[in-house]
Amino acid sequence: MTIQLYNTATRRKEVFEPLDPDNVRMYVCGPTVYDRAHLGNARPVLVFDVLFRLLRHVYGEDAVTYVRNFTDVDDKINATALARKEAGAPGTLEELVAERSDETIEWYHADMDALGALRPTKEPRATQYIAQMVAMIEDLLGKGFAYAKDGHVLFRVREYDKYGALSGRSVDDMIAGARVEVAPYKEDPMDFVLWKPSDDDLPGWDSPWGRGRPGWHIECSAMAYDLLGDTFDIHGGGNDLQFPHHENEIAQSKCAGHGFAKVWMHNEMLQVEGKKMSKSLGNFFTVRDLLDQGVPGEVIRFVMLSTHYRKPMDWTEKKRAEAEATLRKWYDHLKASHLHFSEGNLELYQSSDAYAPDQEFLRLLKDDLNTAGAISRLHELAKESGSSSINALLGSMILLGLVGPKTDIDLLSFSGVGWTGEYPRHVEDLINDLLFARQKARREKDFARADEIRNGLKEAGVAVEDSVEGPHWNILPGFDSSKLEGLL
Ligand code: AMP
Ligand code: ZN
Repeated sequence: MTIQLYNTATRRKEVFEPLDPDNVRMYVCGPTVYDRAHLGNARPVLVFDVLFRLLRHVYGEDAVTYVRNFTDVDDKINATALARKEAGAPGTLEELVAERSDETIEWYHADMDALGALRPTKEPRATQYIAQMVAMIEDLLGKGFAYAKDGHVLFRVREYDKYGALSGRSVDDMIAGARVEVAPYKEDPMDFVLWKPSDDDLPGWDSPWGRGRPGWHIECSAMAYDLLGDTFDIHGGGNDLQFPHHENEIAQSKCAGHGFAKVWMHNEMLQVEGKKMSKSLGNFFTVRDLLDQGVPGEVIRFVMLSTHYRKPMDWTEKKRAEAEATLRKWYDHLKASHLHFSEGNLELYQSSDAYAPDQEFLRLLKDDLNTAGAISRLHELAKESGSSSINALLGSMILLGLVGPKTDIDLLSFSGVGWTGEYPRHVEDLINDLLFARQKARREKDFARADEIRNGLKEAGVAVEDSVEGPHWNILPGFDSSKLEGLL
């Protein structure tokens, strides 16, 4: 069973044949780390996480190298650092810039971990690859594809005859679309920046063209070359990056003489309730906003994967509620078959053929990541009662990242934490129902009700601890289940 992927560069689905099945290589453009990731940013993370998992399943856990960068050279990062400095924060501007990037990367990790996304194999930061960028720019200058003027280095777009092939635009169309900036240091308005000068109050690095910083596009070309080599298998990102970012990456890398990426994959954009997500429409929110409202990461993941990655995806409250209900049902179904999700158990399931993912589910995923179809198949499996269907459901959910060591304990409606088995099943269920009601109250901003439940649990002797993975509970000595009655 081969994997087929839609290649933006050729505009068709192709059988995926890795350059080296022992080292399948993928590069995905990562975030610019100036603020919390919004919900749209999570879409490429989840799409390419599923691809990463599928490739690991097919070629082996250690046979896939997935690189996703952090862009930590950015005016918005600098602006925050500058504002902090002006407000009296200690440290140099460089230190404050690094501090802002560090904190944003930490948030990004916490948020994407909560969505069950595996960390990529390598997560390079642009600022750690400046030397490689300078070397690539020098190479392009030497070959006549770039020129230096007034502390800037520009790429000569007209020297690369395939420019525009990925996004299907001609250079003249692009100029007519007036999406290019005219500047005195440019020979041609289409030319784009490889290197630009930095003022004294901006981060900068010494270079043959003076103190400055790299353009955004050269970052990815240089990091991909350094970490994945001359030619690699897959390059991904959102389709808003096709032009100019990916077009420019291709021009730079090809003109430097590299093979670069074979397959180009782009996810469509995310919208909210049918509208573009934007601050002015008031429908802009971050992944963390949702998690804080008590929406479990698995639910966000499920909603995202319910739409094929090449279709626009609409986040709606209705989908959130349906996803939560479905997952709850499936987790209960697995739990009823005594399948538990501790790390040890998961390792066991993953190493056993008895819990292999369902064949039809796999066939759908291998068909250009048809996650929507794959989820429909899970609905079918969840309706069956034989142990082989249940085991296949579990194996498939593990592959899709819907079950993992961090799977939300609250959503699971059971807790292994502190459970002694001395209490009847209905007490366990009651506690979980109360925690669910508390999350619901929080989501609806009924904080009085949420507090009432929390205090009631405390009085009965149930300790609740909130974590990024959701609430955990523990039964304390002196627990009195009768105090729980009437709370719900
Ligand atoms: P940025 O930090 O803006 O460069 O974006 C990081 C990643 O998120 C890129 O792959 C973008 O294509 C992707 N992205 C940004 N906005 C959206 C959106 N609304 N829907 C889907 N992907 C998005
Ligand atoms: Zn990139």
